[in-house]
Amino acid sequence: MTTSSSFYQHLAQDIQGIHDAGLYKTERIITTPQHAVVRTTEGRDVINLCANNYLGLSSHPAVIEAAHEALRTHGYGLSSVRFICGTQDLHKTLEARIARFLGTEDSILYAAAFDANGGLFEPLLGEEDAVISDTLNHASIIDGIRLCKAKRYRYEHNNPDDLERCLLQAKADGARFKLVFTDGAFSMDGTIAQLDRIREICERHGALLGIDECHATGFLGKTGRGTHEHRGVFGRVDIITGTLGKALGGASGGFTAGRKEVIDLLRQRSRPYLFSNTLAPVIAGASIAVLDLLEASTALRDKLEDNTKYFRKAITEAGFEIKPGDHPIVPIMVHDAVKAQRLSKRLMELGIYAVGFFFPVVPKGQARIRVQMSAVHEREHLERAVAAFSQAGRELELLK
Ligand SMILES: *Cc1c(COP(=O)(O)O)cnc(C)c1O
Repeated sequence: MTTSSSFYQHLAQDIQGIHDAGLYKTERIITTPQHAVVRTTEGRDVINLCANNYLGLSSHPAVIEAAHEALRTHGYGLSSVRFICGTQDLHKTLEARIARFLGTEDSILYAAAFDANGGLFEPLLGEEDAVISDTLNHASIIDGIRLCKAKRYRYEHNNPDDLERCLLQAKADGARFKLVFTDGAFSMDGTIAQLDRIREICERHGALLGIDECHATGFLGKTGRGTHEHRGVFGRVDIITGTLGKALGGASGGFTAGRKEVIDLLRQRSRPYLFSNTLAPVIAGASIAVLDLLEASTALRDKLEDNTKYFRKAITEAGFEIKPGDHPIVPIMVHDAVKAQRLSKRLMELGIYAVGFFFPVVPKGQARIRVQMSAVHEREHLERAVAAFSQAGRELELLK
């Protein structure tokens, strides 16, 4: 047997192992834009409860028009990294607008938030420093931290007391600078970080604070600025990373926002920024239109908040257990992995697209259907969703 055929055989075994463990992920194909209702290749129209399209901007007419306009005026692509010939006026405007929206001095664009996090820590921190991270932080934060030389500390998820223990340890270990980093909102449970307490602890221990706002920018807080606004610490977070690929239009792209010194140094040293192509002009132009919409009116985030309140109450009254909270991510607990898969399948037959999550994505015994509210949902969509959950829940004997 040649080396290459044994290699491919080895991969096939790995894939079979994933199948055997029941963890093989398949991709459902949809043939429409992302919206309240989407069509699948099976020809079925289903109410979509599993997109990160929190504000409905993925198919918003003003956003699509701005994308067309940028395509006409700035072309399709730049075929360059930023520092050679990949920076247009649109990119500079968008960076200034993101900074203004988030209350920071400046911001820098990336091809994805994964890259923003991947290229954040290594340029800013050295081996004399400490980075203190929530145990449930996003994979891109974990990878970004792995790439830097700072000493690493992990605190128990969403536990400020344990964070304090880590900060004391980092001090005892002689750390020069300490950076605490957390998701603003955690995607599996919809938990919103206790940034007010975390900020206070950071101040007491002379630590910097950074947050990943991928599931927050655009809708958390009274004017949608994010977790810092929601928790009353707007303007008091040192570093914010986020995505253009969720609430802010859902195309792709990410950013880091913060003090001028931070952003300047990232432009000089952050590897995913230096060695990867610039954001497409279409996305830059459309994202500016997104910020125009969000700064002009809170109507979309207000509707999302209403939908979230309605759905959380209605699904609870229907007899389901949910993780309590305010976030438009609503985890509907099934506990048993097989039942969660059956429920998701039955919901699809009833015209509701909602996916199940089970071990290892969530802890054993905590299988769930995670639904996500959007401003594109009308009350009727949510009523139909609750009715379908009730019917499927009774059929599968999850409800009495
Ligand atoms: C989605 C997500 C990312 C990655 O965002 P992309 O722009 O799609 O790369 C990073 N962090 C968190 C917390 C996320 O939820």
